[in-house]
Amino acid sequence: MQRSISKLESWLAEGHKVIASLAPSYLAEFEENAGKVAGALKKLGFYGIEETITVLPDIVEARERAAGYSRKPIIYNSCPVVWGLIDSHYPGLKKYLLNIPSPMVLHGRRLKERFPGAKTVFIGPCEAKKWEEVRFYKTQYVDLVITFKELRQILTGQKIDMQNSSETKFLSEPPIWVETGILSFFKSGLKNVSNFLENFDADSMASYGMELLACEGGCINGPGMTTAEPVEKRIGIYCERIMVKGKANRTKS
Ligand code: SF4
Repeated sequence: MQRSISKLESWLAEGHKVIASLAPSYLAEFEENAGKVAGALKKLGFYGIEETITVLPDIVEARERAAGYSRKPIIYNSCPVVWGLIDSHYPGLKKYLLNIPSPMVLHGRRLKERFPGAKTVFIGPCEAKKWEEVRFYKTQYVDLVITFKELRQILTGQKIDMQNSSETKFLSEPPIWVETGILSFFKSGLKNVSNFLENFDADSMASYGMELLACEGGCINGPGMTTAEPVEKRIGIYCERIMVKGKANRTKS
């Protein structure tokens, strides 16, 4: 944990252009609104902040394309633990994995294209994201992964109070994504997912797009979250805030 923290702190202290890719579950992690979360990161020294789901249109398009052209089931590759499980224990299912980068990696790539020379930092609820790129990709687009827990530690160390931070805009507004119907099957929890993979029946799952997540309840319950709220409550908070954001975006457009 300390290594990620000191790496980020030294980049910021040395004046590197550092850009944050903020995982969607920040809405369940922080009580403050999106502007204040971005404001605290800006105060910390980030050059810019963007939500990882900014790449959602590309992801949705790829998922829909894959679902349209293929009669096979498609397993989304968002969760490195599930990907690793398939890789090591169920190699016969690798052909069902969606063949595009995960949202974190795709966003890292886009940021590198738009801001050459910048350092990209994914901030989210997941420890496994720290090894995802090294294990599954040839090129590294995400320079560092830190968890919300680590971010809080850094903010506390720098005496930055998110509640009192000025509101800052993201580099770009994320898409209105609450209405996109991209998910046809969801399973979470390592045991449930393992059982599901063990008994995988491709014929009965044909054309299904599947989100399989190792943490019970999904990323909202990842090990890098700090909130003590029960998972159901976190999901409720998250959905409510997504609706508010979607409504605000629609009003603006
Ligand atoms: S479900 Fe858990 S392990 Fe998988 S990506 Fe989300 S936080 Fe990481």
